[in-house]
Parts: sequence; C-alpha cells; structure tokens
Amino acid sequence: MTGTEELLSRTRELLAAHPPATTGRLDFLRARFDAGLAWVHYPEGLGGLGAPRSLQAVVDAELEAAGAPDNDPRRIGIGLGMAAPTILQYGTEEQKRRYLRPLWTGEEVWCQLFSEPGAGSDLAALGTRAVREGDDWVVNGQKVWTSSAHVARWAILIARTDPEVPKHRGITYFVCDMTDPGVEVRPLRQITGEAEFNEVFLTDVRIPDSRRLGAVGEGWKVAQTTLNNERVAIGGMRLPREGGMIGPISKTWRERPELRTHDLHQRLLKLWVESEVSRLTAERLRQQLVAGQPGPEGAGMKLAFARLNQEISGLEVELLGEEGLLYDDWTMRRPELVDFTGRDAGYRYLRSKGNSIEGGTSEVLLNIVAERVLGLPAEPRTDKDVAWKDLAR
Ligand SMILES: Cc1cc2nc3c(=O)[nH]c(=O)nc-3n(C[C@H](O)[C@H](O)[C@H](O)COP(=O)(O)OP(=O)(O)OC[C@H]3O[C@@H](n4cnc5c(N)ncnc54)[C@H](O)[C@@H]3O)c2cc1C
Repeated sequence: MTGTEELLSRTRELLAAHPPATTGRLDFLRARFDAGLAWVHYPEGLGGLGAPRSLQAVVDAELEAAGAPDNDPRRIGIGLGMAAPTILQYGTEEQKRRYLRPLWTGEEVWCQLFSEPGAGSDLAALGTRAVREGDDWVVNGQKVWTSSAHVARWAILIARTDPEVPKHRGITYFVCDMTDPGVEVRPLRQITGEAEFNEVFLTDVRIPDSRRLGAVGEGWKVAQTTLNNERVAIGGMRLPREGGMIGPISKTWRERPELRTHDLHQRLLKLWVESEVSRLTAERLRQQLVAGQPGPEGAGMKLAFARLNQEISGLEVELLGEEGLLYDDWTMRRPELVDFTGRDAGYRYLRSKGNSIEGGTSEVLLNIVAERVLGLPAEPRTDKDVAWKDLAR
C-alpha cells in the first residue's frame, strides 16, 4: 500500500514535471489526476493510488505550499461529493473512465435530479418515467430544487422504470446529459433573492442504456450511496478553526467592542464551542470513512451543521442590531456556488434557512438517526407492499 513517503515523492515529481508557475491550471489538474494524486484513495488509473484516504492531507499540504492550483471543490461539490462515489461504486469501467477525470478537474459540472414537486422527503414516490425504447430510455417528468442545473453538463437522475411494483423497487439510476434538447432549466428564486437552484423539465429525453448506473430497478439502492455521501459532503466539510459560519461573527465580535453585551458573549461562546466540537467530529467521521462508504451517521453531522448555522447567523443579525437588517444585494443572481464569504449577515441568515431542508430535512434525518443509528422502532409504513401505480397521489 502507498505510504506517506511514496506519496510525497510522487507529489514532488508532479511538481517538478509541471511547475505550477509555468503550467496552465487545467493542464496541472489533469496531470495531477493522471499521477493518482487527485483523490489518493481512489483506484489507480482513476485519479488515485488505492492509498489510505487520510493521506490525502499530505498531498494537499505539499501542493498548497508549492502554490499549485486546486480544483475549486466548492464549485463542483455535487460531482465530487455525490456523483463520484456513486459512479465509483456502481459504474462500469467505461463509465468510470469517461466521467471521473473531467468531474474531478471541474471541466464538467454535475447536478442532482432527484427531488420532484410530489417527492422530496418521500423521494421513493417519484413519478418521472423512463421507458425503454431499443438501446435508449425515454424520460419524461419534472424535477425541482436542482442546484447548479444552469451550469451543469451532467446530472445524476433517478426515474421510475416500473410502476407495477412497490415504489422503492421500480426506480433506476441514470446519468443524464444536461445539453439534451429535451432538458429545460428554469431558475427558481430563493429567499436570498438569488437563483442557485432550478426547476428542470424533462421531455422525451433520450438516455442510452450505457448511461445507466447499476441494474434496472436497483436505483433506490444506488441512490442510498449518493444520499449518504451527500450528508457527509454538506455537514462534514474539512474546515480550519473558525472556517464556517462561526468565522464572520467571531471577527465582528473582536473588531466591534461597542456591540458587545454579557448575554451575547455567553451565547457566542456556547456556539463557538459547539462549532469546534462539530468540526472535530466531522474530522473523526472522515477518518472513519477511510474504512468505506458512509452510513447513516452522516445524518447526525448534517443535523448539527444546519442547527448551528441557523443559530449562529441569527445571533450575528442580533449582534449587529439595525445594521443586521440591511441586505447587500437583492439582484437575482445565478451563482455557481453557495459562498457566504464577502456577503453580509443578512445573506447568511437567509441562506442558512435552507440548510435544514437541503440534503434531507432535519425531521427526516432525525428519523434516520432514530431508526438506523439508535435502533428505535420504525415509523409505520403502509405503502411498502403496494404497487407505485396504486398509491394515492
Ligand atoms: C437550497 C436547497 C438546495 C437543494 N438542492 C437539491 C438538488 O440539487 N437536487 C435535488 O434533487 N433536491 C435538492 N433540494 C431538495 C431537497 O432535497 C428537498 O427540499 C427536501 O428533501 C425536502 O423535500 P420537500 O421540499 O419536498 O419537502 P416535504 O418532503 O414536502 O416536507 C415538508 C415538511 O414535512 C416534513 N416531513 C416530511 N416527511 C416527514 C416525516 N416522515 N417525518 C417528519 N416530518 C416529515 C419535512 O421535514 C418538512 O418540514 C434542495 C433543497 C434546498 C432547500
């Protein structure tokens, strides 16, 4: 197995062959992928070296110190955090070779076509249909809340391929080409004034069977890999101390003594400690991931992330008093990524409202923790054995 010394020597070889100062960004990223230093725990030939995941930090630190460019992970979070682990687990060799390299370098952005107007928490109820025609599947339906669809080249898509069986069993997982003429993307304006997500209408979209991920009818199982990874990607990001929402409020506290009160101080300290505990817990979770795919424990991280962001941004608005009510920009922008740096407290307060909805609502995540982590009795489910076509909608 590849150890620290070998990784360091390979990283130095990469830097010598492609000096960051004189190599174009994309050329450097492609060379890094080909050297197996993109995500070291991935297999050889697919951007990795089959090394322990924890050793990625060694490579990243060496590259950062040499001024090498990164792949702007926040811009391609859905690809890196959700599509890639699903393709790795369920894709054919051909699919892995086609998709993973441009996904990692950021040449191709990915989005997630899962939620529908009638299927969010109850995702397995989805109604978008995929019907087999020769070598293709013809897809019709509507998706909603699709982050980054306006900039995406590819989507991970789940659709109903068999309405005659119970809802979880008739779903199949595909890779959808967002440039297909049948794909229409319309902006949805959020409480922040921005439209970072979209409605997506799929009309007679033809998807070759070669873009199916996993077996026909097994899409729910494949989607679990995506969803478990999504919660870790949202709630378990690697952050430096004060790297998250707690950063801006701590800075204001230090720089604006006139705003301080004893009560606010106590509340800020409590949230600061909780943020640090959450950050370190995420670090531990990532170390556990070295052993394999994440399980339901990612739900706990994501729950803490949402609660803390909402409480901290609320306290920040309170701390700023009248100033906290101002808002920097109501223009309907179409951002490529969610970025609260450089934005005001009002933006952080409004954007964090979505944190307890995206990637599974906090209520649903509590159910997951109760059932799959704590082993408490499951919610009654009356539709488990009913064919999807016979369900009340
Ligand atoms: C910012 C943002 C980005 C998003 N990006 C994407 C994306 O890129 N792709 C994508 O596919 N989706 C995306 N989503 C959608 C998101 O996954 C859904 O909004 C979420 O799963 C909830 O579904 P829903 O909106 O249909 O709400 P519902 O499922 O209708 O829920 C309504 C309310 O009922 C509660 N509820 C539902 N079922 C239960 C239950 N069993 N027990 C207790 N309470 C329950 C919920 O907690 C919620 O409060 C995004 C959402 C947001 C806010």
